[in-house]
Amino acid sequence: MDGCETKKDPCRPAAYRLGDVIYRSQPWVYSVLQDTAPLACYRCLRTPFSSDRSVQLQNKPPLRRCAQCKFAHYCSQQCQKEDWTDRHQPECKILSKLARSSDQLSLDVLLILLKIIIRLKKEQIGDEIGACSPPSARTFNQLMSHEDELKGSPGVVMLYKAWKPYIAVLDKEGTVCQDLASFVGLYGRFHTNGFSIADYFAGNIGKGLYLAPSIIDHSCDPNAVQFFVGKTMVVKAIRDIPSLEEVSGTFSTKFSMKLKLSLNNFDIIWDGGEWIYPDCFPP
Ligand SMILES: [Zn+2]
Ligand SMILES: [Zn+2]
Repeated sequence: MDGCETKKDPCRPAAYRLGDVIYRSQPWVYSVLQDTAPLACYRCLRTPFSSDRSVQLQNKPPLRRCAQCKFAHYCSQQCQKEDWTDRHQPECKILSKLARSSDQLSLDVLLILLKIIIRLKKEQIGDEIGACSPPSARTFNQLMSHEDELKGSPGVVMLYKAWKPYIAVLDKEGTVCQDLASFVGLYGRFHTNGFSIADYFAGNIGKGLYLAPSIIDHSCDPNAVQFFVGKTMVVKAIRDIPSLEEVSGTFSTKFSMKLKLSLNNFDIIWDGGEWIYPDCFPP
């Protein structure tokens, strides 16, 4: 057989070259983590603190806190206003109750689930125009959920029981999440496809669902990496890749962040399984 017909043939032109941007995507839903809520803008995820979060940076005003829930913090009036109109208004009362409650089981995931329900109630199942480059028609409903494996899980049933009262406030008519089966469908899609959003120094500050990049398979030997600029996810090729179907990403955002710095500033060497960094950039 002609070698050029094989899948990984080197004579096939690469769709992506080393360093090419494969996706630049806004999250379909996202949230800060419970622990980082006072440190990062609930809307744009900017943080006015130093990388170790101990020192407030000069010229960056402190975050303003939502007076009602006392949970969401914002870097500006604009971010607060946009967020209120777009998604925070229906969840704000719920968050104020949660903040006072001792029942904070997996709050980080509940924060995302509330935003999924808010989106679906507005029948926004796909990305807005301009949210992803290149554009993608992929919708939330097309994401893998692994419902069959999750629906019998005692942990998932426990989450449903704990969160049902909060979900019912958002979805009074029960059009989006009316029972355990629909809950597992929503939860499973995030559980399977969710990303941790890391700041520049690889501290996780949030979680998000990115519709187009979620088609990328994960690999221990990836040919692409993801990193974040605020809440924007950028996926870059770290080798030549023949087609989108053959793009494979990393499990670890921390790994990706280190690599991003390397691609921008340093030479990198691939050594059959471990990245070797220049001396000036310790692993
Ligand atoms: Zn902001
Ligand atoms: Zn609020």
